[in-house]
Amino acid sequence: MKKIYDVIISGAGPSGSLLGYFLSKKNINTLILEKEKFPRYKVCAGGIQWKALQLLPFDITEVIEKEIYGIYFSRKLKDIFYKKYPEPLIYTLDRIKLDDFMSKKALSSGCSINFNEKVRDFEINNDEVKVHTEKNVYFSKILVGADGAGSIIYKKLNKDKKIHKIIGYETEISLNDLSSYPSAGDSIVLDFGGIKKGYLWIFPKNDHLSIGDGGPVKDALNIKKYLLWFLQNYPDVLGKQNFFQNKLINKKIKENVHFLSMAQVNGVGKSKIKSKINAHFINVRSDKTFLCDHRVLSVGDAAGFGDGFTGEGLYNALLSSHIAFESIVHAFSDSIFNFSDYYERTNNEIYKNIKYSLLISKIFFSAPFFYYKMIKNNDNLFNSCAKILRGEKIYSDVVNKLKLIKI
Ligand SMILES: Cc1cc2nc3c(=O)[nH]c(=O)nc-3n(C[C@H](O)[C@H](O)[C@H](O)COP(=O)(O)OP(=O)(O)OC[C@H]3O[C@@H](n4cnc5c(N)ncnc54)[C@H](O)[C@@H]3O)c2cc1C
Repeated sequence: MKKIYDVIISGAGPSGSLLGYFLSKKNINTLILEKEKFPRYKVCAGGIQWKALQLLPFDITEVIEKEIYGIYFSRKLKDIFYKKYPEPLIYTLDRIKLDDFMSKKALSSGCSINFNEKVRDFEINNDEVKVHTEKNVYFSKILVGADGAGSIIYKKLNKDKKIHKIIGYETEISLNDLSSYPSAGDSIVLDFGGIKKGYLWIFPKNDHLSIGDGGPVKDALNIKKYLLWFLQNYPDVLGKQNFFQNKLINKKIKENVHFLSMAQVNGVGKSKIKSKINAHFINVRSDKTFLCDHRVLSVGDAAGFGDGFTGEGLYNALLSSHIAFESIVHAFSDSIFNFSDYYERTNNEIYKNIKYSLLISKIFFSAPFFYYKMIKNNDNLFNSCAKILRGEKIYSDVVNKLKLIKI
């Protein structure tokens, strides 16, 4: 029998699940097709901005791990300084838990989710979209690509257009056997200078540290190498800075990290080591990349809504799902399925800021040492950056304050 839905969403990450939740609450018959079985691991530092939390229609306190107030800045583990902010800068969470939690919210609102079912292809016709998975064929009025940086929709509709990509590496250092020691509490680490046009981070969670770095794809090899170097060297250096607050935890992490790094260097298979270094892309939109067309649109990473400076994408993913929801409701009420309102609103509310993020990235990485010193010595600048991290300000506010070019 022909399986017909109002909307089919490819992908049950945060953008897909939030959109599925909203549509189903509005009695729009929605199916999410998700290639993985949840709960599943997702390469991500798991930092979420205060302003992203404001976009969620349900409370996610139970999956928030840490409130972050402080940042240890370093340049290749030297020239370390610490800054604190009176309000939480970001919150950390574990994507295994967040994505599982959000998919359950979508299910509870009446949305159908088929896990373990990958979208393989689709055809857009005048009156409907035909979606092929590895198991089935489905039909819908609208198809939404919420399938992340490797999106099948993004790939097919972008054809040969060049996609600007950032590569990110991440590993998780377990603190499970260290639970009786105080771990890094309410601070993150941001390390610059080891990677051209990128940075390295440590984000603490309840029972592990997420450590990773990212930058331009063409420097992928160096970015991974730098992460390995950092993993071998950071516990000693940061231990002295009170980041781990305890000498014993420092020693234990070093043992753990040494094991991980040696395993990576020697190419030990992933089944043999508990932690490993994982990689994933972040797509950053340009004027020409696909966003929407007749009966089809993309949200989140599948639309290239990654931040060109920090690589963050959760806020834009959730915001694009809000806009997509309103646009889909309009499409059904007007029977016009070209999503021109989605195009305009995301351009104004998301893409404009992405362009500023690319400009900020260009400015910062043209003289990283100079700007590093500026943040170190100028509390006003740090406070402006803190407001951007929280989401109280956007890049254009800082660009305008520094009297730089306007977009
Ligand atoms: C190393 C790294 C660190 C990051 N750290 C942060 C951070 O700290 N803060 C932040 O805000 N952002 C961060 N990001 C970006 C963030 O992870 C993404 O912006 C966010 O996950 C986007 O959500 P999404 O729902 O659009 O896509 P995703 O979370 O990628 O979800 C896509 C879903 O689609 C599924 N899927 C894919 N293909 C198919 C298919 N063909 N058929 C069916 N299902 C499919 C996938 O299994 C997945 O579940 C980071 C990214 C990387 C790579």
